[in-house]
Amino acid sequence: MQKKNNNKFSDFDDYQKFCKSTAVYPKIGRSFVYPLIGLQGEVGEVSEKIKKMFRDDKGKLTEEKKIEIVKELGDVVWYISQIATEFDVKFSDVIKGNIEKLTSRQQRGKLHGSGDNR
Ligand SMILES: [Mg+2]
Repeated sequence: MQKKNNNKFSDFDDYQKFCKSTAVYPKIGRSFVYPLIGLQGEVGEVSEKIKKMFRDDKGKLTEEKKIEIVKELGDVVWYISQIATEFDVKFSDVIKGNIEKLTSRQQRGKLHGSGDNR
């Protein structure tokens, strides 16, 4: 019988290990610099697809564009995972930290507003 993993976030760590196994990039400066630049590029690709949705399709999200955007979002997540890896942080801890932050803000009625530590 397979041992049940009680960590509901373990899939994120498995994904992170997979990302690391597919990471092929040069060491430039500190190890997180390359994936940070890659993340910016992929965010730009998401923006570009959405820009073209307005330019070419009058703002209508076609099924084809949606598939393209989802692929780019996957690239964004890959780079986020790699940045976490380069900082020796579990991807699940990134997710958990974000959930805790947002839950706290939600419970205190602080979802709106500005400031990282509200
Ligand atoms: Mg891409």
